[in-house]
Amino acid sequence: MLILTHHSLTRYTAGQQESAYAVQMVVMATQKRRFRAVFRALEEQYPDVKCELDFTTPLQLLAATILSAQSTDVRVNSVTPELFARYRTAAEFAGADRADIERIIYPTGFFRAKAASLQAMGQQLCERFGGEVPMTLAELVTLPGVGRKTANVMLGEAFGLPGITVDTHLGRLARRFGWTTNTDPVKVERDLMILWPKKDWTKASQLLIWHGRRRCHAIRPACGACNVAQWCPSYGEGPTDPAVAAKLVRTAGRG
Ligand code: SF4
Repeated sequence: MLILTHHSLTRYTAGQQESAYAVQMVVMATQKRRFRAVFRALEEQYPDVKCELDFTTPLQLLAATILSAQSTDVRVNSVTPELFARYRTAAEFAGADRADIERIIYPTGFFRAKAASLQAMGQQLCERFGGEVPMTLAELVTLPGVGRKTANVMLGEAFGLPGITVDTHLGRLARRFGWTTNTDPVKVERDLMILWPKKDWTKASQLLIWHGRRRCHAIRPACGACNVAQWCPSYGEGPTDPAVAAKLVRTAGRG
């Protein structure tokens, strides 16, 4: 996104600065309108949108998001019923038999590192947060295995607080829609925070992630079967023929 800083403008005359700001305002207004249109169309396309990880408590979602690194939600959901039945509190994760956790979560990959993170997460929650999952991004990112992406998932899904979850899908789609040129997730998040209304952060993240999983794939997006194509500057990156594109549509998100 075009962002003109005070520093970059000091080289120009007052008149040039005014024109540059005017251009920036027009670009922002256009991008905001595009976001609104895309958001509404995706709401219609995916009326059942939700987090695809199964959970009932913040602790369960925290554990599931740690397991979802380098894995798929389907695979994570296949192991969490047993995991959550055996470990119900932060204290139980803290005092777990590491080998038992490793056995249960093995199908999600990187099972040794993830088991260590789950146990350390339980210990930290007990030592620093009274066994509860904290409700701020600043506190969440201090937990083992929890990065900014996981923290934003927690804010939005577990606590109903606004959060933009920049995963691989959201980053790709934000670039395709021209909302950012950045690849660093923190910078993408910053650009989207300027553009998207705060009340829509969580749902917009979910909708775009769903769209990325089902239609706007990294390779061969289904442009000819995309209901937001009219607002997409990247239309044509994938097949535009409706019959060809329809075959690329996936019905359930996999990862
Ligand atoms: S038109 Fe193509 S690139 Fe644009 S959002 Fe749709 S599938 Fe993705």
